[in-house]
Amino acid sequence: MARTGNLPISAFIGLGLASLCAAAAAQEPAINLYSARHYSTDEALYSNFTKATGIRINRVDADDAGIIARLKAEGSASPADVILLVDAARLWKGEVEGLFLPIQSKILDTAIPPQLRAKPTDVGKTAWFGLSTRARVIVYDKVKVKKEDVDRYEKLADPINKGKVCIRSGSHPYNLSLFGATTEHMGPQKTEAWLKGMVDNMARSPKGGDTDQIKGVASGECAIAVTNSYYLARLLRSSNPEERAIAERVGVVFPNQSTWGTHINIAGGAVAKHSKNSANAVKFLEYLAGADAQGYFANGNNEWPAAVGVTLDNPALKAMSGGSFKSETIPISAVGMNQIKVQQMLDRVGFK
Ligand code: FE
Repeated sequence: MARTGNLPISAFIGLGLASLCAAAAAQEPAINLYSARHYSTDEALYSNFTKATGIRINRVDADDAGIIARLKAEGSASPADVILLVDAARLWKGEVEGLFLPIQSKILDTAIPPQLRAKPTDVGKTAWFGLSTRARVIVYDKVKVKKEDVDRYEKLADPINKGKVCIRSGSHPYNLSLFGATTEHMGPQKTEAWLKGMVDNMARSPKGGDTDQIKGVASGECAIAVTNSYYLARLLRSSNPEERAIAERVGVVFPNQSTWGTHINIAGGAVAKHSKNSANAVKFLEYLAGADAQGYFANGNNEWPAAVGVTLDNPALKAMSGGSFKSETIPISAVGMNQIKVQQMLDRVGFK
């Protein structure tokens, strides 16, 4: 469409030149999507949206940090219309850095529960919406560890689990969000003592991603590990028998079922601050919150839908959680707000 013809040349270089040019040539309505999601099942989602609305999607893939850096560098010249990120702390960061355009949408306000979206602005607009949820669960060696010794996050710091715990870097957004949530649940003092206890219990210094922690339990290096639920579900559903064997070797627990519930994080979306197609961008987010899209969107990465009343039949998730589980109910926006406080605690207790 016309506006893509006005993009600065630098934008074309970094941003999927072929697709943007194709859109410009076709003179069709289009939105430019910056996405940290990269799941093949998302393809069907995008083409269904185009079929239903005639709006083409030009997608640029990068990770969350890369997208945020790019939006900042591009400033008001950014061609971005919709942003999809995969962590509440990063969505919060995008919001406070002024990279999103707060919007008002009856459809999104109805579909997405208030605790899974940004705090409303003074004029009742919302900067970002959760579109799927994932749980931060504990996996354990079924031979060395009793389930009741890991059924609460607090027990990761219990001396009974000394030398057993593996976890990725404390500064990774998934952990910043988990620790931001525990700060809400038990206050900063107890959270800092807990983080210190976890450091004392580590089997090794934090390294690798969540899948590496699961593998650490399967190989015997760790007896207990923390991971997002979809990494385990991915191994359970893998076509590679070795990966399935790893998943089957570990036990999984959804922590804090008898107290505040398991910590959940989100993948979510926002309209870009300088979008020149904000009406169509909102339309796309509304589409993603619809029942059909929610199924694809969540299932594509073995997650749960965020929209109310949408259920999903995912055998791996069902096997892991026993069908349903109690999740925490604090506003997800609070976990982002605690990030800086949490990082200071991590530095004080030597949590790498
Ligand atoms: Fe992830």
